[in-house]
Amino acid sequence: MKRILIIEDEKKIADIIKIYLDAEGFEAAWTSSGIEGISRALGWADLVILDLMLPDIEGEEVCRRVRLTSDVPIIMLTAKSSEEERVRGLGLGADDYVIKPFSPRELMLRIKAVLKRADGGRERDAANSAHVSFNGGILVINEARREVRANGQQVELTPVEFKALLALSRNAGLALTRAQLIDLVYGYSFEGFDRTVDAHIKNIRHKIDADPRNPLFIQTVYGVGYRFIGLPDEK
Ligand code: CA
Repeated sequence: MKRILIIEDEKKIADIIKIYLDAEGFEAAWTSSGIEGISRALGWADLVILDLMLPDIEGEEVCRRVRLTSDVPIIMLTAKSSEEERVRGLGLGADDYVIKPFSPRELMLRIKAVLKRADGGRERDAANSAHVSFNGGILVINEARREVRANGQQVELTPVEFKALLALSRNAGLALTRAQLIDLVYGYSFEGFDRTVDAHIKNIRHKIDADPRNPLFIQTVYGVGYRFIGLPDEK
């Protein structure tokens, strides 16, 4: 259940908004104080409805202070209707603007739209940060999903192979010794680890390289170990 905070000193307006929010299945809370609103906006709310004219501090100031540390969506309520005020409000980081007197039904639509946009943005952020791609998308590693795609095909790596590829790609350009790789993958070393590493690398190459004898991604550094040579794509 999404939590909506109403910061509005006119109780009548706050009551009406709250009735509509309840009916839409939101959890609503109300405060008439901008100062109290800031702390509740930061700790509690999924979206804030913010009146501009408040008794203690200006709504603009509430918006500014919330935005210092949070990207919680904010919809401003205002009686000021000029284009300039509107731009100023949005410049402070408000996500939308509703001019009084407003229809509560329209406010509900705006709330849903802003929440949807915020959720979409978060999902996109998560998806973007979760995967890295190399050499123009030939190799794509999605850490969150533990997925690897090579040449457009999904590749099945064992958990150890996945960890090894991740360790190498995170240290792209650096030659890692077999001992370092074992440490990164297993967290400890053991007898005969050299051959274990070599076997894993061989398997990974067969899975991600079209021509494993001329690898595009994992290079053998003689006398040292292995180096990831894939070129990261720009996001
Ligand atoms: Ca007011």
